[in-house]
Amino acid sequence: MPYTAPVNDLVFAAELAGLDAVARLPGFEDATPALLRSILEEAGRFAAEVLAPLNHSGDRQGARLQGGEVITADGWKDAYRQFVAGGWNGLPFDPAFGGQGLPWLAATAVAEIWHAANMAFSLCPLLTQSAIAAIEAHGTPAQRETYLPKLVSGEWSGTMNLTEPQAGSDLSAVRTRAVPVSGGEHYRITGQKIFITYGDHDMTANIIHLVLARLPDAPPGVKGISLFIVPKFLAGEAGDWTRRNDIETVSLEHKLGIHASPTAVLGYGGGKYGDGDGALGYLVGEANRGLQYMFTMMNLARHAVGVEGNGVAERAYQQAAAFAAERVQGRAIDAGAGDSSAAAADSSAAADGRVAIIRHADVKRMLLAQKCRIEALRALSLTVAANIDHAHRQPAAEAQSQARDMLGILTPVIKGHATECGVDNVSLALQVQGGMGFIEETGAAQHYRDVRITPIYEGTTGIQSLDLVGRKLVGDGGGGALRVIARIEAECANLDVGDDAMAESMRAALNLLREAAESLLAAAADDANLPAAVAEPYLRLWGTVACGWQMLKAAALSHQRLTRGDGDAPGGDDGDGGGDDGGDGNGIGCAFYRHKIHTARFYFAAEMPKARQLADTIRTAAALIAEADPTMFEPA
Ligand SMILES: Cc1cc2nc3c(=O)[nH]c(=O)nc-3n(C[C@H](O)[C@H](O)[C@H](O)COP(=O)(O)OP(=O)(O)OC[C@H]3O[C@@H](n4cnc5c(N)ncnc54)[C@H](O)[C@@H]3O)c2cc1C
Repeated sequence: MPYTAPVNDLVFAAELAGLDAVARLPGFEDATPALLRSILEEAGRFAAEVLAPLNHSGDRQGARLQGGEVITADGWKDAYRQFVAGGWNGLPFDPAFGGQGLPWLAATAVAEIWHAANMAFSLCPLLTQSAIAAIEAHGTPAQRETYLPKLVSGEWSGTMNLTEPQAGSDLSAVRTRAVPVSGGEHYRITGQKIFITYGDHDMTANIIHLVLARLPDAPPGVKGISLFIVPKFLAGEAGDWTRRNDIETVSLEHKLGIHASPTAVLGYGGGKYGDGDGALGYLVGEANRGLQYMFTMMNLARHAVGVEGNGVAERAYQQAAAFAAERVQGRAIDAGAGDSSAAAADSSAAADGRVAIIRHADVKRMLLAQKCRIEALRALSLTVAANIDHAHRQPAAEAQSQARDMLGILTPVIKGHATECGVDNVSLALQVQGGMGFIEETGAAQHYRDVRITPIYEGTTGIQSLDLVGRKLVGDGGGGALRVIARIEAECANLDVGDDAMAESMRAALNLLREAAESLLAAAADDANLPAAVAEPYLRLWGTVACGWQMLKAAALSHQRLTRGDGDAPGGDDGDGGGDDGGDGNGIGCAFYRHKIHTARFYFAAEMPKARQLADTIRTAAALIAEADPTMFEPA
C-alpha cells in the first residue's frame, strides 16, 4: 500500500504551531512555509519511493544475528546510504558540525514522514538524533569535535543504553559498572544492557553507545548513575576507527513488531573482543549526574516517540480510507435495492446499487475518529517542537521560561496520549478493513503490531503519567500546569472560530482540567497515593483537552481563511462552505479548510466529551484504586 506524505496538513499544522514566530528566532529566518513545503515534498518523495516499499518486506525478513554480527533486512543498507546522502540525518543540528540548522519544528514535521513510511527504519535516526543532542549539551569540546560531525552526517549512529534485566522503569537499579583507568582518562565498562534499539547493525561504520553505569564509589539510587560514551570501534593510533571495543551482541529479541529494527542484548567487557577488563568508555560531564544528562536524550526521544505513534496511525489511516473507498458491501441505508439516490450519486457504487463501505455511517465514524485525533496530535506535536525551538533560541528569559513550562507539561502528554491514541487509531484502521485487516498480507496487521511498542518504550504511559502528576504538578506546587492552562485559556479566548458550541466546549474542558489539577494538589496533601492512582486519566485528560485546543485553533484559522477572501483564499470562496477549491496561494484549497472545520466539529462532538468522563474518574476512582488489596487480583 503506497504512502502519501500529508504535506498540506503538515504545513498547516506548522503554521498553527507558530512557524512565523519560530522564523523570528535568531538563525531561523529562512524557515518560511514555502521552504518547509519544499522540504516536506522532497521528504515525501523519498519516503514514498525508498522507505515505504521496504516496510512490509523488512517486517517479514527482520534483522538477524549471524556469527555475532547483525545483518539488517534486504534494502536497508542502501536506503540508509541514500538517507545520509540526502542530508536528512542532520536537519536540526548546528551547521558547525555539518547539520542543516533547521528548527525542530521543521525536523519534527519531516520525522513524522519517516515514521509513517517505515517505523522500523526511522528508529535508527531517531536514536542518533537523541545521542547528538546529549553530546552537544553535555560533552566536552573534544568529545563534540570527535563524535558530532560523524553522528550528524549519519556516517555513525547512536544508541541509548539504559535498560538492564533488573532496571526497566526503575533506573535506580542500574548495575553496569564503570571503573576509572589512568586517573579517569577513560573507564572500563562491564555489565549487560537489554532491549537496545539498533544496538548493533551493518548500516554505519561505527555505533556510539551512550551508556548509564555506576562508578565504584557511587552513591546508591539514581544519584549514583553516570553517563559514558562507549564506541563500538575505538580510535586507532593511525587515527582510524577500526579497533573493536569489547561489546558483544549477545542476542536479538524476537518481538511482536518492528521486526526490522534490531533490538539487542549487549554484553560490555565480557572478553570476546578484549582482555575481559571492560569495554573502554569516556565519561560525559560530571560523575553521578548521568541520569540528568540522559534526560536531554529522553525528552527528545519521548517527543519523537509520540510523533512516531501518530505517524504510524496516519499510515494505517491512509490504508483504511483507501480500502473503504474501494470495498463494495451492502446498500446505502436509505436505498431500495438497486435504486438508491446515494448509490446513484456514488460513482463507486456497483451496478446493483451496492455501495463502497465509505458511504456507510459507521465506517465514516471510524475514519473521522482517526482523522480528528491524528490531525489534532500532529498539531500538538509540532507545538511541542516549536517550544523546543523557543526554549533553545529565545533571547528573552521570560519567553524561554514559558517555553520550558510548555515542554515540561506537554512532553509526557504527547508521549503518553499520542501513543495510546496511536494504538486505538491503528486498531480502528484495521477494523475498517474487516477480515482483510486481520490477515498479514494486506499490511494493516503490521501497523497494529508495530505501533504497540510506542506506549511502552521511552517510559510507559504509567511512567509518563507519574512524571506529569508527581514531578510536574505536585512537585511544582501546580505552578507550571496552572500557568500553561492559563496561557491556553487566554489564547482560546482570542480565537474567532465562528462556532459558539466549540468555543464553549473548550472553555468547559479547560475548567475541568484546572479543577482536576487543584483536586489532585489537595489530595496529595492528604495521601501521596491518591494522585498516583489517577495519574493516567489525568494525562489522558490533558491530552484530550490539549488536542481540543489544537482543533479550536485549526477551526479558527480555517474560518479566517475561508471568510477573508482577500488573498489567502484566492479561490474566492464566500465562506458559506459551498465554494470551490481555490487554494490559498500556498497549495491548500478551500475544501481543505472546510474539511478541517468539519473535523474540528467532530472532535468537539465525539472526543471532547471524554474529558468529562476522565475528570469524573479522577474525582471518584482514586481511593478505590489506591486501596485495592493486591490479593484481590488472585484467581477466585
Ligand atoms: C522494542 C524495544 C526497544 C527498546 N529500546 C530501548 C533502548 O534503545 N534503550 C533502552 O535503554 N531501553 C530500551 N527499551 C526498554 C524500554 O524502555 C523498557 O521496556 C520500558 O522502559 C519499560 O521497562 P520494563 O520493560 O522493564 O517494564 P517494567 O518497568 O517492569 O514495567 C512493567 C509495568 O509496570 C509499570 N510500572 C513500573 N514501575 C512503576 C511505578 N513506579 N509506578 C507505576 N507503574 C509502574 C509500568 O508502567 C508497566 O506497565 C526497549 C524496549 C523494547 C521492548
